Amino acid sequence: MRIDVVSIFPEYLAALDLSLIGKARREGLLQLHVHDLRDFTADRHRTVDDTPYGGGAGMVMKPEPWALALESILAGRPAPAESGSRAARPVLIVPSPAGEVFNQALAYELAEEDHLVFACGRYEGIDERVLEWAAQAFTVRPVSLGDYVLNGGEVAVLAMVEAIGRLLPGVVGNPESLVEESHSDGLLEYPVYTKPSEWRGRGIPEVLLSGNHARIARHRRDEQLRRTAARRPDLIEALDPAGLDKADKATLEGLGYAVTPDGVRAVQASERTS
Ligand code: SAM
Repeated sequence: MRIDVVSIFPEYLAALDLSLIGKARREGLLQLHVHDLRDFTADRHRTVDDTPYGGGAGMVMKPEPWALALESILAGRPAPAESGSRAARPVLIVPSPAGEVFNQALAYELAEEDHLVFACGRYEGIDERVLEWAAQAFTVRPVSLGDYVLNGGEVAVLAMVEAIGRLLPGVVGNPESLVEESHSDGLLEYPVYTKPSEWRGRGIPEVLLSGNHARIARHRRDEQLRRTAARRPDLIEALDPAGLDKADKATLEGLGYAVTPDGVRAVQASERTS
């Protein structure tokens, strides 16, 4: 996969040289290029922002440096094998609190792409016409890290590149570890423990020492259901009942959920007593 990031703070992205993503870059699994938006300005002050039309607080990122930066990235791409194919169209991800919310499903979807370009906004964001213009050559996706406002897109890009990059073949040493993680099957991960088995007066669930793989798997699945019900009940109600076995249903019923072929829903206290 190739990733290009455009930012006025290219040094912010230096963290992508570290750990597994840095190793993936060195091993050629991920080609990551960071570009300074100010290199695409023409004035002495390397200006990238201006006042907003219609008035109001803050500054807006000027369109022309963005167009030049994106054109330069397009010019540097290897010729597409099949013109017009999905592979021929890079995805332009525009971090924005006004975008669709990034999640594991989107990370998996984007990990299938050949070329991602991230446009880090600052100030009040990028002139909207850049997104309209870019849609001629890119699949444009405004993406939010969550329902809060950051100062710039760089932190969002660090998170997204790490989440996407670790799904690329060969990046995480043991691909098994991706399978059981939080959000891989719609549930949060079960609690994990390591040695010593007694620590400051606290033990671990006995079953984990039993060596009985079926019991351990069942215990972990129940812990996933319990933890998800406690922390993210919205995920429980989004479960597909077809993917739940008899033991899952029993655990969910014990947690106060009704499982029917139509879905999983919390049973109100008044329904439970009646
Ligand atoms: N005026 C914008 C709004 O209200 O939607 C917020 C601009 S914010 C101060 C500056 C930049 O930070 C945005 O252009 C975007 O690149 C980035 N940003 C802020 N919050 C974000 C979030 N939740 N997810 C992704 N990027 C975010």
